[in-house]
Amino acid sequence: MPKKPTNEEHCSFCGRPASQSGLLLSGLNGYICADCAREAEKIFKQQGQGRSSAKFEIQSADIPTPTEIKQFLDLYVIGQEAAKRVLSVAVYNHYKRLKYNAEHGNKNEVEIEKSNIVMVGETGTGKTLLARTIARLLKVPFCIADATTLTEAGYVGDDVENVLVRLLQAADYDVPACERGIVFIDEIDKIARKSENTSITRDVSGEGVQQALLKLLEGAEVNVPPEGGRKHPEQKLIKINTRNILFICGGAFDGIERAIGARLNSNVIGFKGDEKRQELDRDNMLQYVQPMDLKKFGLIPELVGRFPVLTYLEPLDREALRRILTEPKNALVKQYCELFKMDGITLEIEPGVLDLVVDRAVEYHLGARGLRSIMEGLMTDLMFDLPSMQKNTTYTLTRDEAEKKIRL
Ligand code: ADP
Repeated sequence: MPKKPTNEEHCSFCGRPASQSGLLLSGLNGYICADCAREAEKIFKQQGQGRSSAKFEIQSADIPTPTEIKQFLDLYVIGQEAAKRVLSVAVYNHYKRLKYNAEHGNKNEVEIEKSNIVMVGETGTGKTLLARTIARLLKVPFCIADATTLTEAGYVGDDVENVLVRLLQAADYDVPACERGIVFIDEIDKIARKSENTSITRDVSGEGVQQALLKLLEGAEVNVPPEGGRKHPEQKLIKINTRNILFICGGAFDGIERAIGARLNSNVIGFKGDEKRQELDRDNMLQYVQPMDLKKFGLIPELVGRFPVLTYLEPLDREALRRILTEPKNALVKQYCELFKMDGITLEIEPGVLDLVVDRAVEYHLGARGLRSIMEGLMTDLMFDLPSMQKNTTYTLTRDEAEKKIRL
């Protein structure tokens, strides 16, 4: 029971008097302060003894259908129909698998295995955005890790297990919740081995990391240091079972079109051949990606085998880029208008300005990633000047003005 502390009462755990620790809860023979109670909760959770926090409790009613998941993705991500459908199904199945395991315990008649996913797509086409958007919707812990920072144990960089540390942190140190989470690993292509020949020297960034990652993907009991960093002999480790953790990976796989083209026995750059070949959409070869292409690119076969679902993102054309500027819930144009509205100014942007921005983004070859910096370049002067202008005015950014700014 909470009790108004008197100065004589001490927390029975840390020994601090009530005058320092604040409110004390009293038990039969002692007291506990808020700090010690929080620490105790963390320890219970780490040992898998604590109650899952409500944040991660999944009720049947919480499980969105694939259509609902896709509708949600549509609010933020333009195009990418194939990837959206695949992700929606994968996430839905992830929930169903969790539900099945929870209902059947160890007496599973059928073991429903998880389907880790690889998304292949040029930079700035929305891989991370898809993963982040999924995370907004989910009731499972979610984290994003970057494969380029990972190294084999013993080398400078992050041990592969640190991916799980992030997930554990996202789960508020709730181990059972963490064991149901989803991990997005970006830039998975950067840990490809450099050639298909195995080298006799150690390949710090490539194959060793793939092997280490394989262990996580296969579903293993992994000991992780709760605060991250290197494992020290004296450090207490937390055991995490990765059997039910869903891994989604993304990568640009620069140049994989060549492998795909070669496999399809066609030339990526222009050909005129029989009818079947002409059906190939040469502007978007990624749509034909197959697991063997990933192998050719330098992912070890065992790892490729652990990703039963392979999907692709389309390159963003002019129309898609233009829609990205204005349509998503957090579209750049909407964001700027909102910012100006706070200063009492209505911002209008001529359609020609958007065409100009799209032209530039296409030149930069950065996908939608270039849009933000181009828009910032356009808006900086306005953001500097407009707040000191008269309130309740409308400002129209014209194409002429934008051209001058962009040329600078
Ligand atoms: P990558 O494919 O390299 O992971 P990102 O998802 O990080 O690309 O995209 C970078 C930014 O570009 C996003 O934050 C988003 O603003 C924008 N973007 C990229 N693709 C799309 C898309 N399909 N729909 C809407 N915005 C997009």
